[in-house]
This record gives sequence, structure tokens and C-alpha cells, in this order.
Amino acid sequence: MAKVLCVLYDDPVDGHPKSYARDGIPKLDRYPGGQTLPTPKAIDFHPGELLGTVSGELGLGKYLEEQGHALVVTSDKDGPNSVFERELPDADIVISQPFWPAYLTRERIAKAPKLKLAITAGVGSDHVDLAAAMERGVTVTEVSYCNSISVSEHVVMMILGLVRNYLPSYQWVVKGGWNIADCVARSYDLEGMHVGTVGAGRIGLAVLRRLKPFDVKLHYTDRHRLPKSVEKELGLTFHPAAADMVPACDVVTINCPLHPETENLFDAAMIARMKRGAYLVNTARGKICNRDAIAAALQSGQLAGYAGDVWFPQPAPRDHPWRTMPYHGMTPHTSGSSLSAQARYAAGVREILECWFEQRPIREEYLIVDRGKLAGAGAHSYSAGNATGGSEEAAKFKRM
Ligand code: NDP
Repeated sequence: MAKVLCVLYDDPVDGHPKSYARDGIPKLDRYPGGQTLPTPKAIDFHPGELLGTVSGELGLGKYLEEQGHALVVTSDKDGPNSVFERELPDADIVISQPFWPAYLTRERIAKAPKLKLAITAGVGSDHVDLAAAMERGVTVTEVSYCNSISVSEHVVMMILGLVRNYLPSYQWVVKGGWNIADCVARSYDLEGMHVGTVGAGRIGLAVLRRLKPFDVKLHYTDRHRLPKSVEKELGLTFHPAAADMVPACDVVTINCPLHPETENLFDAAMIARMKRGAYLVNTARGKICNRDAIAAALQSGQLAGYAGDVWFPQPAPRDHPWRTMPYHGMTPHTSGSSLSAQARYAAGVREILECWFEQRPIREEYLIVDRGKLAGAGAHSYSAGNATGGSEEAAKFKRM
């Protein structure tokens, strides 16, 4: 019998939904590029239900109970007295979502001698100290591709929202106004602008593909170059590094993982290299951007807008400057947790658990760390190290 400790976000303030806006979600067969969707033997939920919450349990309760395993689900994840920290010492498996990350720091891994598997219900395992996981032989997995298209749609929405000044214009309507001049004094067309992505993997490439019909000039930087045919099809300009790309761009979107190489990549120096009045959209990870440099650049006008859904830590303290800085379009970390994405990552977690318990190999594309080293998707896109430093600040959200 295994103890599975699952950290999920809180239920809606009015409780678990009794009905939904739509009756279901479209059925997809494959992801772009051909990877198959998760293939668990069964699922115990209806695709389109809220699953990422404590009540939703990622649809795992019945399965784990029938298998004789113990499931502990909590949203209380930060601080030494949290349920997570109390339940961790005898947990075999930890499941957590990047949206509400259970930070698995070196100290926490040391307190969990039985821990063998950490599953990210989503994509992005930077909330786990990967170096410590390697040393301790903890396998780290994520459900690659489950929400890549979800995020790419969010990126396009946020680029348009910033460039066209959507959110302030909406606010004028809600306030009862008809202030066209106030709305349009910061509103532009995206057409003709230069848009660049840092990272052209699943999300970055999907963003480029979605932006192509807007008649923009597309740029990218990545550790590996895309095939020539793709560069030609989309008319891409490749830059060897972000620092080379940003001076050419009106809009920059960040779509690379957080690892030691990308932490604090957008600091004051990088932002100073951008065009005055550029827009920056970051749905990758909060720590890739320097918190204070972003707020200062919006104040000074160096950046015309910043949007995204990723913060550090998460939940962001209530006094986090990105909540109140000017010209931002931030949301909580939601882009990869649409109901559509939840169905896929819940099924993916179930697939990983079935493989683990039945001692079948976990798909290569789901592996980040295995047998003491970076593996599968992790070996391709991550570098070894730790990006969890400072995560204890997440406890401030509860205290304030
Ligand atoms: P992929 O691994 O498919 O793509 C990431 C790309 O970034 C890869 O092509 C990788 O290069 C590239 N990259 C890595 N390091 C650098 C670097 N230093 N400079 C430039 N490029 C770099 O991942 P996804 O597209 O699926 O996801 C990207 C990230 O988005 C995730 O790691 C996660 O942090 C975030 N995300 C956010 C979500 C949300 O809800 N907001 C949901 C899902 C993901 P290569 O592999 O060629 O070495």
C-alpha cells in the first residue's frame, strides 16, 4: 500500500460546481506533432469537470481506494505547520500542480525518506529541487503536452489584450463610462509588429503558428534550432540568444522552462535592451522575470505592458508588486488549468500511477528525472539544479 499525498488548489468560493457552462469538451485524438493523449486504462470523471481542486481530487479517489492505497488531498501546502509538511514524512508519492505548487525543496525531500515519485499534474517541475531529487533517487514526472495548446491560446489572448488595451477599456464599460479617448490613447494594432518567443518548444511554436495569420514578423530564440522547413513556413528569424532577439521585437513572449539558465533572465539589463514601449508576456514561470525590474519598467514606460499568469512564489503574497503595477494584465496561474486541460492532465496522472503501480515503464516524454539523472523530456529541456529558492515566502499569502 502506498500513501499518495496530493496538493490541489482550493474549491471555488461557492463550493464545487453543480453544473457547468458547457456540456463537455471536444474530443482530441492527438497533440500537434503526433504525441498521443494520455492513455490510462480507465478514468473515473467526466471530461469537462473541475478536477484540479481538493474536491475534484484529479478524479483519483476511487481508483486509489480500490487499489488499497491511501490518498491524502490538501490545499494547505506552505509553512512548517501545513498539512503538506505534516503528511510528507511517510508519503510515497507526491502529486502537485504548478498552479498551486507544493514546493519540494531539498529540506522537504530530506524529511520524506519514503518518497519515490513526484508527479506534476501539468507541465513544469521547477517547484521540485531537481538536484535534490536526483541525489535521493526520486523520480520526477510531468504530463507533457497536456496544456501546451491551452497556454498558447492564453498567450495570444494576452498579447492582443495588451496591445489593444482591452482590460482598461472593459473597465470603463463596467464603471458606466463611454471614454473612447481614454481607451484608445494606448491602443494599437498588432499587424506589422515584430513578435519574438524565448523558447520554441510545444508552447512557443504553437504561439508562433497562431500568430502567423496576424501578419506579424516572427522571431525566436531556443537552445535547439527548429527545422529549416518550419522556419521557412512561418517566416521565422532565429536569434542565438534572448539578448540578441529582444532589441528587434515589439512583443516578447517567454515560453522556456525555469531552470538555472533562465532564472532572472529578464532582469533590468535585458529589459533595457528591449525597444521602449515593448510588451512582455510571460506564461512560463515568474522567476524568469525580475520582480522589481518589471514593475520599474512599467513605471518608467520602458515596457508598455506586461501580462502573464505566473508568479513567484505561488500563491503570490497579497502585497506582490505585480498586483498593483501599471499597465499589467496578470491573472492567477490559470492558463494551463482550463477544464479542457484538467481532463488531460488528470488522465495523464492516472496513466503515470497505473504504470508505477504495475511496474510498467512511464513514457519517456513524461520523465524529467529518473534513476538519479535528468531523463526523457527533462534531459532535453531542463538543466540540472534547483529553482525552488525563496519558495518559503508563499506562506505569506496565508498570514496576510
Ligand atoms: P517544451 O520543453 O516543449 O519547450 C520549452 C523550450 O524552451 C524548448 O524548446 C527548450 O529548448 C527551450 N529552452 C530551454 N532553455 C532555454 C533557454 N535558456 N533559452 C531559450 N530556450 C530555452 O515546453 P513547453 O513549451 O510545453 O512549456 C514551456 C514552459 O512553459 C514549461 O517549462 C512551463 O514552465 C511553462 N508552462 C506554463 C503553463 C501555465 O499554465 N502557465 C503550463 C505549461 C507549461 P530545447 O528543448 O530545444 O533545449
